[in-house]
Amino acid sequence: MKKNLLCAAMLFASCSAFAAEQHVHWDYSGDKGPENWAKLTPEFGACAGKNQTPVNLTGFIQADLKPLKFNYKVGGSQILNNGHTVQVVYDAGSNVVIDGVEYELKQFHFHAPSENEIKGESYPLEGHFVHADKNGNLAVVAVMFKEGKANPVLETLWAHLPAKEGDKIALTPAHNALDLLPKNHAYYRFSGSLTTPPCTEGVRWIVMKKPVFVSKAQIDAFKKVMGHDNNRPLQAVNAREILE
Ligand SMILES: [Zn+2]
Repeated sequence: MKKNLLCAAMLFASCSAFAAEQHVHWDYSGDKGPENWAKLTPEFGACAGKNQTPVNLTGFIQADLKPLKFNYKVGGSQILNNGHTVQVVYDAGSNVVIDGVEYELKQFHFHAPSENEIKGESYPLEGHFVHADKNGNLAVVAVMFKEGKANPVLETLWAHLPAKEGDKIALTPAHNALDLLPKNHAYYRFSGSLTTPPCTEGVRWIVMKKPVFVSKAQIDAFKKVMGHDNNRPLQAVNAREILE
């Protein structure tokens, strides 16, 4: 199960154990769209679960959230387009410490428009930094992008935007993913799921309170290679607490 969770989080970039599910096609609209994900195959059953992501973050519970410790190094050795997102595969050796546990950064990818909302506000772009601990438990750090000045890290990454589904482009690691996060690491926290099939639950979600900037041209460039919106609709919070 843990291995499947990790493989799913890698969005099939390099996981042969998950090969069977690669053939279950899903989409962001139509017959294979989000409303039908849970019915496409039993393996996607969790998509109908009660602890799903994305959510509208609101109704916060005041909590004594400890500061996150980011130990990120320069990484990012490949950028790929898997038809669902554009993803940067990160080199081993970068992690974030949550509750004293190290979660290694595996990859980051983007959704336009944002999947999560903060107090009912949608953003034009959201970044997901996917981490796993040594047991395969997942933690996703989400960052909202607000339209404004050009983002210098995206400027370089987008110079290698893979235009078509299946395209993979090798990168010379030149950036620290930390430079894509806001300087202020204040965050919201809740328990959720992968936002793509198989929608596995038990994912630690950390959503940065402060957005970072992205230019309209950078948003448009991403949308152009995706060719469609790639955000799952909001899911019910149900019994969960959203901490701040
Ligand atoms: Zn995502």
